[in-house]
Amino acid sequence: MIPTKKIVMVPGPVPVSPSILQALGSETRAHTDPVFVADFQALLGDLRDMLHCDGIAFLVAGSGTMGMEMAVVNIASQKDRILLCSNGHFGDRYESICERRGYRMDVVKAEWGKSVTVEEVDAQLAKGGYSILIMTHVETSTGAMIQLKEIAEMVKKKYPEVLFLVDGVAAAGGAEADMRWGIDLYLTCTQKALGSVPGMMVLWANKRALEKRESMGQIPESYVDFARWIPVMVDTKQYWGTPAVNNIMALKEAMHIIKEEGYEARCKRHAEDAAMLAEAMEAIGFKVACEKPFRASTLSVFLYPQDMPVDDAAFRAAVAEEGGLIAGCLGAFAGKGFRMGHMANLDKHMLVAMAAAVERGALRCGMKVEPGAALAVVQKKLALRA
Ligand code: PMP
Repeated sequence: MIPTKKIVMVPGPVPVSPSILQALGSETRAHTDPVFVADFQALLGDLRDMLHCDGIAFLVAGSGTMGMEMAVVNIASQKDRILLCSNGHFGDRYESICERRGYRMDVVKAEWGKSVTVEEVDAQLAKGGYSILIMTHVETSTGAMIQLKEIAEMVKKKYPEVLFLVDGVAAAGGAEADMRWGIDLYLTCTQKALGSVPGMMVLWANKRALEKRESMGQIPESYVDFARWIPVMVDTKQYWGTPAVNNIMALKEAMHIIKEEGYEARCKRHAEDAAMLAEAMEAIGFKVACEKPFRASTLSVFLYPQDMPVDDAAFRAAVAEEGGLIAGCLGAFAGKGFRMGHMANLDKHMLVAMAAAVERGALRCGMKVEPGAALAVVQKKLALRA
């Protein structure tokens, strides 16, 4: 039998467009090649513009976790007090990163599937003494998205002494963020909503964050020290560590696609896809784990129907055989549902295929699903879309 082409439907890596893969596979240039130097510089400008960053967009080889670490060690010392608001697994990862550094920190945790609210952040900051707030834009383990604009604006207005650091790994390029709202540092990696392959992280730091770094003198870290990379990001002819040349060329193409679509249109498309897939999955009995208005536009956690018990591993294996790679759940949701990424450059074919693969997988597992019920939702919505 002809094997079914597999669509990557996990919350990153994402399906990568052919032109991006072509750029990745292009001949490797020297990092000193004037063409590469100019492309790299232009890309950094595009990244800065995307989030309206008045400082620097650092583009450095390493995964999103390195970005998390790089962001915090460059602005936090033992003198600081951090407020970390965690919505799940990746918020908790920040807790462990900060613990290793021995930072003074308080942690507010949301119930799984919910989000720490603007009011809760406000109430905690009002206790005083904090200089850094850390939050995760989209929590990949639960599909919860924070009310970023409202929180950033509140912090900027009421607590101007607080630097706001946001983990945007599962959001950047798909869920809107604007540093002018009051975000001081924002980070992501290349394999999620930006649409490229794994390998690099992007960390936006505004002027306030860079000033904080400058005030700190030497920090213990070397590779991830802002002071090492600032000369390179300001002038890409400079050298600190060899840039991941091909990965940068791939991201350049990914940014070209983003610019062509338009950042706002792209964020709107992600929100529409999320709502459409939620409706489609609900039509065959799955339940969105996260409540409105905290549902992420870039990924979802779908819980199995309570009246139709299904073996989690067998279900995901069946969906994979039907052509869709979905992810298992973590923490409190482990075994109770699956995670689906819907970010970056998904076309109509992929969206239809996603819904269809889940439907066939469910049918194969004996779930009482009306064939075509999820597909009907997707087809109707996509047909109306220009
Ligand atoms: N933060 C969030 C919100 C994530 O979803 C992830 C990865 N899924 C990370 C951080 C870590 O990124 P990476 O796996 O690239 O280190």
